[in-house]
Amino acid sequence: GSTTLAVQTRGLTAGYGSTPAVHDLDLEVAEGEIAVLLGANGAGKTTTLLALAGELRPMRGTADVLDCGRRSRLDRRARSGLGYLTEGRCVFMGLTGWENLKLGRGKPARALELFPELEPHLGKRAGLLSGGQQQMLALGRILATEPRLVLADELSLGLAPLVVQRLLGALRAAADRGAAVVLVEQHVRHALAIADRGYVLRRGRVALSGTGAELAADADSIGRQYLTGE
Ligand code: ATP
Repeated sequence: GSTTLAVQTRGLTAGYGSTPAVHDLDLEVAEGEIAVLLGANGAGKTTTLLALAGELRPMRGTADVLDCGRRSRLDRRARSGLGYLTEGRCVFMGLTGWENLKLGRGKPARALELFPELEPHLGKRAGLLSGGQQQMLALGRILATEPRLVLADELSLGLAPLVVQRLLGALRAAADRGAAVVLVEQHVRHALAIADRGYVLRRGRVALSGTGAELAADADSIGRQYLTGE
């Protein structure tokens, strides 16, 4: 079948001030695909997402990303199809679950289709929900907008494996509906199980890449070689 690329970088180099944090990245993600970025702390994963979101301009090379209005502000980009979940829990802690969903641009019913387990808790302030419920609320809000490109940074940090699987499953469902997803994730096995492809970053460069299945077959050695701190 024909695939439409949603993300294509060529020799992408990006960083902070005049110091590159990622070098020479060649990444490709098609619509309907999930790509996972793996790597130790400081390897350049968040920097890569920021460059794809248009928050960091390439110092060298190109970052072609399907046009989500990348020159406009992040909230405008959200309106044109970019869903960006940053590290941490992106919810209004002082508002109820319902209020959080209604403030989103998508239909609350769609978020609840993805995470029906939230329904009994929607009357509570988000700050009183568990970490997993907060993250389902945050991801549900984003996915309810039916984004064309989803960038998700460590959405499962500190959460129980069952919740991690629910969150990653919802991303898989979004991809199956045609979204392109780029995911930064520390749960290597869970992530590779839903990913079409993966890139292992080391010191800002792609050290290894392959299909999710190829990398999953090497998950142990990838963990030993690339994911421990240096
Ligand atoms: P982590 O898992 O710790 O989030 P990461 O793989 O996402 O790691 P990045 O956050 O992309 O790594 O960091 C890559 C490099 O860029 C690191 O050396 C980091 O110190 C540096 N860096 C990150 N953010 C900034 C910033 N705002 N200003 C300057 N340097 C930064």
